[in-house]
Amino acid sequence: MPRRPLTRLAHEAVAAVLHGGDLAVDATVGNGHDTLFLARAVGPHGRVIGFDIQRPAIAKAQSRLAEAGLAQRVELHLTGHERLADFLPASLEGPPLAAAMFNLGYLPGADKTCITRPHSTRQALAAAWSALRPGGLISVLVYIGHPGGVDELDAVQAWLDALADPALAVQSLRGPAAASPVLFLIRRRADPGG
Ligand code: SAH
Repeated sequence: MPRRPLTRLAHEAVAAVLHGGDLAVDATVGNGHDTLFLARAVGPHGRVIGFDIQRPAIAKAQSRLAEAGLAQRVELHLTGHERLADFLPASLEGPPLAAAMFNLGYLPGADKTCITRPHSTRQALAAAWSALRPGGLISVLVYIGHPGGVDELDAVQAWLDALADPALAVQSLRGPAAASPVLFLIRRRADPGG
């Protein structure tokens, strides 16, 4: 059986927790593949909030969404995901977060020095975790083949290790090669006591 790429495993895991009408975050919009996937998964009554610090990435994602007729359910922000909490609805005003996707590193085909950074990644992960509803999921795909990649992997792992929360359930999956990316599936248990 062919190995399924980690991007596809991330989509499958996220799709399994999303329902129509949900709120989802794409923390690293890039070319907008994950944004488009999330927009489809949340349905016409759902909402997706996306972040990227590169204008061409946001523009490309915007046109991809418009082409698919899904732009109206997505808000894209040209700003760092470390500001995520500023853009989430206050819990009484809207649904808590059902899923967040992080696809770290650099944007293929663009400036390879424009990468996600350990400190801001951890800030964004913390904000997403705080807003995540029971049963919700955060997927984090970490690439380690570029300068700074291993530091970022260490930062994500350290953040998870420090998160002493009984509701936390983490799965990590790795490709076959030494420099293969690592996928973390981070869940908030619906029944932390059970
Ligand atoms: N998920 C994308 C690929 C993302 S590549 C896809 O499937 O096409 C990583 C992206 O993170 C890049 O576009 C980069 O600009 C963006 N990025 C880097 N630092 C960021 C930050 N602090 N906040 C949000 N996005 C950031």
